Amino acid sequence: MKNLIEIGNELFINTYARHPAVMVEGKGCRLKDAKGNEYLDFVAGIATCSLGHCHPVVTEAICRQAGKLLHVSNLYHTMPQIELAGMLVDHSFADKVFMANSGAEANEAAIKLARKHGGTGCFEIISLEGSFHGRTLATVAATGQRKFHIGYEPLPVGFYHAPFGDLEAMEKLITNKTCAILVEPLQGEGGVRPLEKEYLQGIRTLCDKHSILLILDEIQVGMGRTGTLFAHEQYGIRPDILTCAKALGNGMPIGAMLTTNKVANSFKPGDHASTFGGNPVACAAAVAVLKTMTSDGFLEGVKTKGEHLHKCLKSIADQYNRLCRGVRGRGLIQGLVLDDSIADKGAEIISTLFKAGILVTLAGGKVIRCTPPLTVSIEEIDAMASVLEEVISNL
Ligand SMILES: *Cc1c(COP(=O)(O)O)cnc(C)c1O
Repeated sequence: MKNLIEIGNELFINTYARHPAVMVEGKGCRLKDAKGNEYLDFVAGIATCSLGHCHPVVTEAICRQAGKLLHVSNLYHTMPQIELAGMLVDHSFADKVFMANSGAEANEAAIKLARKHGGTGCFEIISLEGSFHGRTLATVAATGQRKFHIGYEPLPVGFYHAPFGDLEAMEKLITNKTCAILVEPLQGEGGVRPLEKEYLQGIRTLCDKHSILLILDEIQVGMGRTGTLFAHEQYGIRPDILTCAKALGNGMPIGAMLTTNKVANSFKPGDHASTFGGNPVACAAAVAVLKTMTSDGFLEGVKTKGEHLHKCLKSIADQYNRLCRGVRGRGLIQGLVLDDSIADKGAEIISTLFKAGILVTLAGGKVIRCTPPLTVSIEEIDAMASVLEEVISNL
């Protein structure tokens, strides 16, 4: 008889290299599979289940809303959507919100808005090498990694990529057709690479100098991940457009594009839309997430625990300095950078950790990325680090 994993592998188009587990249950930082194996989850659905699995406040909000109203489309207003938009505006630079269902869709909305704002002939967007912005054709074109482009050309035109960390090279790419610069304050998929403070401030200055928009993709690092609700708050700058998704709904599919009144005015009724965008149940979940994250002490806790995680990884990196290059990240997104000599061992390390009940991801090919739920405990961080150290020591 075939097992569930074999059945799954026969049924699905082969786009994912999945670990051999059927996950059935989660609570906090713990996951359980169909065989009863338990896992300590330092992936959290890729920085998505930031309040942990099945947080009672989120589950309650979903159940309550599901019993009331599931969907009406954006032909009408709904209570949860208005409440969520109000909270996003209250806690950010933004005046206006557009609701989507995913990160890529939030970025698509941002790209379309920037092009509308730029006007006819002003459509070019500059992003960074090593970036990741999504899997739709436009967001793939914005993504600064060749491996995501192969096989899909011709891609939408007008996307240019500046080398990471080089302001001068970026300015050379700006033309009178440029409408926006799009960057992540910290590159997640690209290998947990934070932008230096002066660098992102310099990008803001370039945008002001050339009257173009700054779009921040905070899909992975927004929503408390770095210790502030949005990562750019630590840079002393404001974007013109910001996209968030992943942790916004703690696992319910939702994305949002935030912007100022001035920029928002470029969209008129009919210019953009989404059937499911701002779905009442997803919005109810997101309201519960925002209330929890903005409650007293929550973000302080993320900072403290982030420093602890950094310290634990740093101690491994120092002890095995022939195998590890160092540690980088902000708050509770931290990456252990493998030395080039063992960079090809990344997938094997992740798989060994998986067998030992520890879930982490590989980012940028050679970075062991930790994105635990923000509700993770110091003990859980220590438990993960001790298994990771053992795996590294056996290399
Ligand atoms: C995950 C991610 C996206 C894409 O989000 P989806 O919800 O998978 O479409 C875009 N940008 C960044 C920075 C991401 O981490």
